[in-house]
Amino acid sequence: MILKAEEFQNNLEYARFMDDIDSLFSIRHRFQIPEKDGKQIIYFCGNSLGLKPASTAYLMDKELKKWGDLAVDGHFAEEDPWFSYSEDNRASLARIVGAKMQEVIPMNSLTVNLHLLMISFYKPTKERYKIIMEGGAFPSDQYAMETQVRMHGLNPEEVIIELHPREGEYTLREEDIFNTIEEHGESLALVMMAGVHYYTGQYYPLREITEKAHKVGALCGFDLAHATGNLPLELHDWNVDFACWCSYKYLNSGPGAVGVAFVHEKWANDPDVFRLGGWWGNDPKTRFKMEKGFLPAKGAQSWQMSNAPVFNMIGLKASMDIFDTVAMADLRKKSIALTNYLYFLLNDLTKFGFKIITPENPNQRGAQLSLLFKDKGKELFDYLTENGVVMDWREPNVIRIAPVPLYNTFEEVYTFAKLVENYFNQEN
Ligand SMILES: *Cc1c(COP(=O)(O)O)cnc(C)c1O
Repeated sequence: MILKAEEFQNNLEYARFMDDIDSLFSIRHRFQIPEKDGKQIIYFCGNSLGLKPASTAYLMDKELKKWGDLAVDGHFAEEDPWFSYSEDNRASLARIVGAKMQEVIPMNSLTVNLHLLMISFYKPTKERYKIIMEGGAFPSDQYAMETQVRMHGLNPEEVIIELHPREGEYTLREEDIFNTIEEHGESLALVMMAGVHYYTGQYYPLREITEKAHKVGALCGFDLAHATGNLPLELHDWNVDFACWCSYKYLNSGPGAVGVAFVHEKWANDPDVFRLGGWWGNDPKTRFKMEKGFLPAKGAQSWQMSNAPVFNMIGLKASMDIFDTVAMADLRKKSIALTNYLYFLLNDLTKFGFKIITPENPNQRGAQLSLLFKDKGKELFDYLTENGVVMDWREPNVIRIAPVPLYNTFEEVYTFAKLVENYFNQEN
């Protein structure tokens, strides 16, 4: 596959050639591509809600039938018993994020998991109480941090250190992240950041951030909502303490689908790390004895409280069936080519008055590009929508587009750029 920008060509034949040589192209057929006026739309919104795998409905139906036919006996059905549903997707999830199976667990939803993990890993003391996070974080993360800090009777203004881009810049400089960690050194309890920033699309150097945080004696956790399924991760080897993400963005598990938590085995197997208890987090050996005394199981599953939301898990299963067929390195290779191509085509059009604020360096971004407009942004957005493109608008003036390597094509990227060009040409 051709990766170098200087070899990219701005024509349809070239885009189709790229699709022809794309070894992952056929995976697109495993998804339902929405249509508008009988034509497939260009869906560049997989960073917000992934497309529906074609198999989800069948799998869902099968479980509905099981419920109808077997009722409570479905828990121990011969085929896919509900009892073990919380175990089923762990191996697939672990591979996607570079973890051991025992370190990941699908449960609850993202923000809930963030709170549960903060309860375990944010333990402020008089000396060590600060949290470093990215500025302009996703609102849920901001609220979670703020209220966690308040729960300890502390003042968020004094505790939360936000990282902001320098004057006139849009994304963080890596050295500024590292220096801030060092600067707060002994007063730092936790670095808790996004993996990929939802607004700018910047991918942070997670391994180095973790290393620096540990070096000053702090813990390090990540919200990987925009990173999981988007980029290859190595959470175990990077020694990340904990992480959480949702499965409805790049993981295509359906609206509001189940969240996932990662806890590094050094903590996950330590019964002295405090976690809130529930029967599903208890050691399975004593879970059904119904006795007093919470005994956490080994592994991240000990953070589970409830039995698995089966229908939610099926959405995840349908998606994992697809991910299981792809090496993350191959997916990333295609993703870089696809988004580099988009960057190459759009860069030529920035003369019409917008800026690509996502880093140009593919090592500092995933699939998404964010376009910042001076004006006409909303008009362009409406024009593109009218012409069958689905993307997302973020106030005050950003369009986010994410060509997803599992199902988007080079031809779609080309067609999208042509539409942008047409819009500005008819304007002038
Ligand atoms: C999508 C997203 C969320 C959404 O949280 P839910 O609990 O799933 O509603 C939170 N944080 C970040 C960074 C996100 O990208």
